[in-house]
Amino acid sequence: MEKIVSLCKRRGFIFQSSEIYGGLNGCWDYGPLGTELKRNLKDFWWRRTVRERDDVVGMDGSILMNRQVWVASGHENTFTDPMVDCRNCKSRLRADQLTEKNGRKQCPVCGSFDLTEPRAFNLMFKTYVGATEDESAVTYLRPETAQAIFVQFRNILEVSRKKLPFGIAQIGKAFRNEINPRNFTFRSREFEQMELEYFCRPENGLELLEYWLQERLRFYRDIGLPSESLHVHKIPPEECAHYSKGTYDIEFAFPFGIQELEGVAYRTDYDLTQHQLASGKPLDYFDEESKQHFIPHVVEPSAGVDRTMLALICAGYDEEVVTDEKGKSETRTVLRFHPRMAPIKCGVFPLLKNNESLVRRAREIVDQLRREMMVFYDETGAIGRRYRRQDEAGTPFGVTVDFDTIGENGPALRDTVTVRHRDSMEQERIAIKELPAFLSERIR
Ligand code: ATP
Repeated sequence: MEKIVSLCKRRGFIFQSSEIYGGLNGCWDYGPLGTELKRNLKDFWWRRTVRERDDVVGMDGSILMNRQVWVASGHENTFTDPMVDCRNCKSRLRADQLTEKNGRKQCPVCGSFDLTEPRAFNLMFKTYVGATEDESAVTYLRPETAQAIFVQFRNILEVSRKKLPFGIAQIGKAFRNEINPRNFTFRSREFEQMELEYFCRPENGLELLEYWLQERLRFYRDIGLPSESLHVHKIPPEECAHYSKGTYDIEFAFPFGIQELEGVAYRTDYDLTQHQLASGKPLDYFDEESKQHFIPHVVEPSAGVDRTMLALICAGYDEEVVTDEKGKSETRTVLRFHPRMAPIKCGVFPLLKNNESLVRRAREIVDQLRREMMVFYDETGAIGRRYRRQDEAGTPFGVTVDFDTIGENGPALRDTVTVRHRDSMEQERIAIKELPAFLSERIR
């Protein structure tokens, strides 16, 4: 994990937030490569969940909402973690993350047994809306994106004219004042979620829970997480929320353990019912066939952007010893991202930077490709060094413009380039005019 954290900083995937002031615990900034990776992940989720389907529409809700939303959803009263204080070292700890010795709970920081009784700590960040800081102005930063979907259910049903089953999808920031942010970005205080609320008839809920579990597993495989690193944990009924008729956690084998990436939960009609009761506004569905009104049930796949990114980086990280033509061995660090997730799709390199024709041709290729994908032009250092730098960034393809390209060795290879593959390090010769199609096909 240490190597991954250091690569993330060194190459500009992830920085500590407000680093020059000592940081802010549980908050992270994404640098140039991290931002591209995040975009690719969110875009692919959106494409799979919304654009490629007839039965899902999108929305983008506000982060601040009327406090009553959080009262009705149950978050104001029950969105808590049990917290204990260590009287010895003053650490604040989550009661379910204490260590145990001879059956006694122990502080994981200093080892002391002198702990307070657990008490409920609400994870929502409280804030005030407007100029007066009194109780009437209180609201919270949303701890999940889902509630905006429930409270807009009626509006979206009307404008989209969808029939059950149909879903509403949203990607956005969420905030939780976690007691112990840890494991790099895995547990942060500010993070992003990708959530789908898939509304259905009560009789289809259980079957759709299984369907969405399989769909979501397919998604994780399609972004390049190996099947063997993914685990499904069926939450035992006694541990499910009281309204849930079934919940699965999709987990990933991180270097620090097997941990949750996403929850897929069948939440029955709990959320819409709560909001209908509290707001007094109808949130039901009129079924034209049976001429009946009822509150739809819902299946919710709820994924974390930041956790999935961390999984992609952990799964992609590799070191291998390679030997060059002169017999010299070195360790190459490579991020083996699936091309569709890779922040930069293609590096473009003129063999020499002081040859005007090579540079011009390479620049032309960059201009041609950048309309369709993220490309990176690099002219400095030996070509091997440039390849290594892109290996570390996870760039799947490298294009080199050499003397053959500009026809100096005869007409046979004029207007062709070398394409080097990151994983196998194999090279092939491709005509420049074929290049956009060659690359687009592989990164889609
Ligand atoms: P955990 O048990 O790890 O606290 P949770 O079960 O409370 O997570 P959910 O409420 O189901 O999480 O949230 C859905 C998803 O949102 C999680 O699967 C995770 O990917 C993401 N998520 C939740 N909390 C955090 C956090 N503090 N930091 C980063 N991502 C988070």
